[in-house]
Amino acid sequence: MDFRLSPETEAWRAELGTFLDAEIPDGFEGDDDFFDNEEQVDFARQFTRKLGERRWFAPAWPERYGGMGKTQIEQMVLNEELAYHRAPAGGRLFTIGITGPTMLVHASDEQKDRFLPKMASGEDWYCQGFSEPGSGSDLASMQTRAVRDGDDYVINGQKIWTSNAHIADKMILLARTDQEAPKHKGISAFIVDMDAPGVTVQGVPNIAYRHDFNQVFFEDVRVPASNLFGGENNGWYVATTTLDFERSNIAAVSGARRTIHDLIGWAREKHPGGRPWDKPSVRHKLADLAIEAETGRLVAYRTAWLQAKGAVPNYEASMGKVWMAMLGIKVANTGIGILGAYGQLTPGSAGAQLYGRLTTAYLLAMSGPIAGGTSDIQKNIIAQRGLGLPRG
Ligand SMILES: Cc1cc2nc3c(=O)[nH]c(=O)nc-3n(C[C@H](O)[C@H](O)[C@H](O)COP(=O)(O)OP(=O)(O)OC[C@H]3O[C@@H](n4cnc5c(N)ncnc54)[C@H](O)[C@@H]3O)c2cc1C
Repeated sequence: MDFRLSPETEAWRAELGTFLDAEIPDGFEGDDDFFDNEEQVDFARQFTRKLGERRWFAPAWPERYGGMGKTQIEQMVLNEELAYHRAPAGGRLFTIGITGPTMLVHASDEQKDRFLPKMASGEDWYCQGFSEPGSGSDLASMQTRAVRDGDDYVINGQKIWTSNAHIADKMILLARTDQEAPKHKGISAFIVDMDAPGVTVQGVPNIAYRHDFNQVFFEDVRVPASNLFGGENNGWYVATTTLDFERSNIAAVSGARRTIHDLIGWAREKHPGGRPWDKPSVRHKLADLAIEAETGRLVAYRTAWLQAKGAVPNYEASMGKVWMAMLGIKVANTGIGILGAYGQLTPGSAGAQLYGRLTTAYLLAMSGPIAGGTSDIQKNIIAQRGLGLPRG
């Protein structure tokens, strides 16, 4: 593998950096993908449209759908810079990272023309309606049903842990269209309008007392049959494609690098207890974190490089996911320790250091090994597909 990026890609990274420095106010409280107040959402809507106008939201998509026809490497560089600058990129993960690429593979030309340009322009934000109260790791056991009725399907059921459902315009939904078929074979994928009659979104406050995810209830929701994509009862195949995208984990790596750099900057300043940087143990801890973040970055680059070559990384992506979930916890834990008692202060408290971000990061890091497929499941993939070990 060649670790260097082309001069054009590096030049684009620099251009992006200048744009993001100018656009994102210092101390902006929203992060890459999650928002829990109106002000953050308004700012993110405007910012996302600006990216879309420049075709910078989905650079790896064909120009016809609002992209730049570039490779996964440029998409990765964009994701890396957005996360490093803590840009509020409007549900990028679920829209550009997950739903769009899945539709590029599975949707009809008519569906691509209908849905993709509004994703790339930053106009339509998506959420992902996969998990249900009884179906997480065993996703294929889902119970939400879609029954054909004339030109529509009628949806009934419930999704849970749906990130950003409260601010999304549309959802990529998996629902059971054949009750009799074996569990992996009777599922279909739909695009659903979040303002369709019968859709109810209820916030579920998380460990950091933030409203990031939701329960979504479907009561006789009519969805046009033309919104089913990838073929009836072929939804499991669509879902597995979905889970193959956005797997470089670069945003998590980049977010961790930014926090480490912020901590280094903070430690070099003089504080009431002295200059933390003068203590070798502080420097060693920060060096360890920086090395581990760099390891994660290289794993992420390898994953994106495989994708750019047309390969589908699976155990490589799982390695990155496990590594970054662990690093997220470690960065927050170590960071809180280096800040001392100030590390206990929440955002907005007088005396909070680094905007109190470490406190929130510490709490939210706990979800890293669970969200998007648990670390246990990732380790199963690494064991079987990476190491060739037999199923237990
Ligand atoms: C912050 C966050 C955001 C999320 N956002 C979304 C979203 O937008 N859309 C969406 O659809 N879902 C979302 N999820 C849900 C997420 O996909 C599930 O939480 C995840 O798939 C695990 O499912 P579960 O929570 O039901 O746990 P379970 O599957 O019930 O697992 C419980 C425990 O058992 C272990 N386990 C289960 N099966 C196995 C196995 N075969 N081998 C070894 N161990 C196993 C798990 O590792 C875990 O420790 C989100 C979750 C979080 C935390």
